[in-house]
Amino acid sequence: MNSIEKQPARSGHTLGLVSILAGVLLAIGVGVVWGRTMWMASDGPDRTIEELNKTVRQKEQFARQAEAAGNQKEADRLRGQIPLVQKEIERNEAFRLQADQAELGFARNAFEVIRFCGDVFLRMLLMIVVPLVVTSMICGITSLGDMSRMGKVGLWTLTYYLITGAAAVVLGIALVEIIQPGVGMDDTFAYVDESLLGRQESSVVGTVLEVIRGRPDAPASGLIPENILAAASETNILAVILFSLLFGGALTTLGEKGKPAVDFFRAMNEAIMKVVRLILFFAPVGIFGLITTRIVLSGGGQALAVEGERLGWFVLTVTLGLAIHAVVLCLLLLVLGRRNPLRYFYTMSRALLTALSTSSSSATLPVTMECAEEAGVSQRATGFVLPLGATINMDGTALYEATAAIFIAQSAGIPLSGAALVVVFLTATLAAIGAPGIPEAGLVTLLIVLSAVGLPAAGIGTILAIDWFLDRQRTAVNVFGDAVGAAVIDRWLKKQ
Ligand code: ASP
Repeated sequence: MNSIEKQPARSGHTLGLVSILAGVLLAIGVGVVWGRTMWMASDGPDRTIEELNKTVRQKEQFARQAEAAGNQKEADRLRGQIPLVQKEIERNEAFRLQADQAELGFARNAFEVIRFCGDVFLRMLLMIVVPLVVTSMICGITSLGDMSRMGKVGLWTLTYYLITGAAAVVLGIALVEIIQPGVGMDDTFAYVDESLLGRQESSVVGTVLEVIRGRPDAPASGLIPENILAAASETNILAVILFSLLFGGALTTLGEKGKPAVDFFRAMNEAIMKVVRLILFFAPVGIFGLITTRIVLSGGGQALAVEGERLGWFVLTVTLGLAIHAVVLCLLLLVLGRRNPLRYFYTMSRALLTALSTSSSSATLPVTMECAEEAGVSQRATGFVLPLGATINMDGTALYEATAAIFIAQSAGIPLSGAALVVVFLTATLAAIGAPGIPEAGLVTLLIVLSAVGLPAAGIGTILAIDWFLDRQRTAVNVFGDAVGAAVIDRWLKKQ
């Protein structure tokens, strides 16, 4: 009876997955074949020219700084790159002229519609995240029973997350030291956003304190905001998690009196999961929209190939590291979670593809929860472990931060001592915990790692152009890490 009942869900899953995969493939096809035209139609050349002009100004500024520091060789090297950037500006001016002369109205409209589809999907996911986190956390906590059990689960979850994150960092450091992708790196087109340069001063202690207390000028930020409703309205997931934890914990101490509230949140949670399933119907179109938009904005398939060639070894190192870590997670799932990794991976695949298209663990959370539920992970584990994981468990980001920092040191020709590598290990592990589950968050927290070992923030310019691409991969590993964590903790709970 049971297997007969499960059949429709399974075939529904396969259908959903096949249509999402079709959306991804179509996006890649459209992006490669038509991406450049849509890029030209949507003011792409103007944006690129503006950025290249900023690159020229930044190179001048860095050259002057190098001169002031008595490093004439570096100043000459930077100035020597400027003609090449100017040549690229001329090439883009030709594209602009071509775009002005061609009739690109259809491509512009098509791009607008494609972008609209992606935006709507992303908004739907984000719209549901806060109510989902509140109700699933409260349901998860109240189904655990008493406070001491909650404490134990919390401790296990945090320890598990910390160990897997640290393992990812060690893997990243080992690979980047073996492959040495930064040696002889060409940084002609390196450009670092002014807003990132302004944050160069971030220190480890300062950042950790800021994650807890929030920024002084933003009352809705931090783990402890001034106003929980303001925090929720700004999708400050970490604060919502803490509040729901406290609230759920308090409910468990009320006994019979708390039961109506618990039932209320259970019903709410079920209703919200139904809405998530509805949103998922739109996933193939939404994912198609998100991926195509990103390929178009970066200049189409050709531009991606150029970036890939320029930073190929770095991309290879990160991708290899993420793939190996995914295998490690599968082994953990087998040994600690006692589950078939391939089947689990398959059931989670819709969440992984959503992570690839949104670059955000938080936005993917509704899909992750739906898939974990489908894989048979109990609500006690998913309700608590997944929302927490989406904000603090980022194995992919941790691996990326360590790899990127050492890559930047290699390309700048700065040797890192053993002690500096230990600092990279510690700060990359912490920085990943502090990074919120939003696109390119890892790039901002990378500054902590860089400043801890005395590397220039400007080094980020070298990897900025390709970060969006790697962000998608590391987000997928982050999400898979959360899902594996939920299965492992679920088994531990069952054993108890
Ligand atoms: N985008 C990643 C996430 O949401 C964070 C990062 O930038 O590494 O998981």
